[in-house]
Parts: sequence; structure tokens; C-alpha cells
Amino acid sequence: MKIDIVSIFPGYFDVLELSLLGKAAKSKLVDVTVHDLRDATTDVHKSVDDTPYGGGAGMVMSPEPWGTMLDGVLQEDSWLVVPSPAGQLFSQSLAVEFSQAPHLVFACGRYEGIDQRVVEHYRTTHRVVEVSVGDYVLNGGEVAALAMMEATVRLLPGFMGNPESLVEESHEKGLLEYPSFTKPRTWRGLDVPEVLLSGNHDAIRTWREEQSLERTRQVRPDLLED
Ligand code: SAM
Repeated sequence: MKIDIVSIFPGYFDVLELSLLGKAAKSKLVDVTVHDLRDATTDVHKSVDDTPYGGGAGMVMSPEPWGTMLDGVLQEDSWLVVPSPAGQLFSQSLAVEFSQAPHLVFACGRYEGIDQRVVEHYRTTHRVVEVSVGDYVLNGGEVAALAMMEATVRLLPGFMGNPESLVEESHEKGLLEYPSFTKPRTWRGLDVPEVLLSGNHDAIRTWREEQSLERTRQVRPDLLED
């Protein structure tokens, strides 16, 4: 999979060298390129923003550098992902969709966001998704893009050592995952649930299903409504 990221803070993505995502890049499972939006500016100050039409606080990212940059980065089959607190909520099912896309381009906004005409314009030629990572406001799209990339890339075939571990995870079946335990059997007076030591696979499966349902009921009852 190919991923391009456009940001005024390309250094944010140095963390991609770390952990499993870095390994995926090294093994060519994913090919990530980070672009500095300021490289697409034409003035001496490398300006990327201007005051908002209609007034109001803050600055808005100008469409010109975005247009120049995205014209060069987008390919025919690219999906343009625009992190935005006003977008549709990111979810496991969207991560699955992203993992099947041939090319993702993340456009990371700052300030009050990107001039809306950029989204409108590329919607006429590409699949454009404005996506929120939650009902809160970040300073920029970089952290949101990193979260979406991590959720997406770990779904690529060959990424996980044991692909089975993807199957039972929270949100895969619309429920939260059951709690997990490892050795030692007793820790600070707390015991591992007896059933997990029983070797009875049916009983363990039933216990996990019940725990998964109960946890979802307690923490995320909204998931059960769906
Ligand atoms: N004025 C915008 C609004 O209220 O919708 C918020 C702009 S925010 C300060 C700057 C940038 O951070 C956004 O353009 C977006 O790229 C990113 N951002 C902030 N919160 C986000 C969220 N919850 N999900 C995804 N991106 C977010």
C-alpha cells in the first residue's frame, strides 16, 4: 500500500520509524512519503494561511498550496483523507476500507482548517473522506492521521505475526473485547479467573462471550443499540 502525507510539520511523522509501522515500511508492505506543504508555496515567507472570509478568530489554510501539492501527489486511484473534527467518525470498519485502498493521501490541516473548496474540488475527481478521530479538537491533523494509519496498516495481510489476533479484537464484531490475563496466576492478591485455567475450550469461549457483552453493556451501551 502506498501512503502520502501532507503537513506543515513533516517531523511529526518521524515516529513512523518506530515499532511495527516502521517494520511494515522496511518490509515494503507500506510505502510512506511525507511532504512539506510549504514546498508548494510561492512567496518568500512560505505562507500557507490567510484570514477567514466573513471574519472570526484564527486563520484558514489557503487553497493554492494545497492545490499545487495535491495535484502532484494524487494519482487516479488515490483516496484523499482529510482529518477534521467535523468529519465522519473514524471506526474499525473505515480502517478496513482504508486497508483495501491502493493509495491513501492524508491532508493534515492546522489553524482553523483547510479552505473547504479543496475538499469540494477533489471530490469531483477522487474519493474524499473527511474523518474525525473523536469528538474533541486537536491542534492539527497529524496525530489523527497517525492514529488512522496505524489502525489501517495493522490490517494489511502480512503485517501481524499472528493474523488470528486481529479477529477477536474490540470493534471487529461490534463489541468490546473480553479482558485478557497472563502469568503469574496470582498478582497482588488478585487471581486469574478460574475458567481460563480449566482447559475447557467451550467454557472459555462462553465466558469470553459473556465478558465481551457485559463489558460493552457497561462501557459502550451505544454499540449494542446498533
Ligand atoms: N475550526 C475547526 C473546527 O472547529 O471544526 C477545528 C480546526 S483544528 C484546531 C485544526 C486541525 O486539526 C483540523 O483542520 C484537523 O486537521 C485537525 N483536527 C482537530 N481535531 C480533529 C479531530 N477530532 N479529528 C481529526 N482531525 C482533527
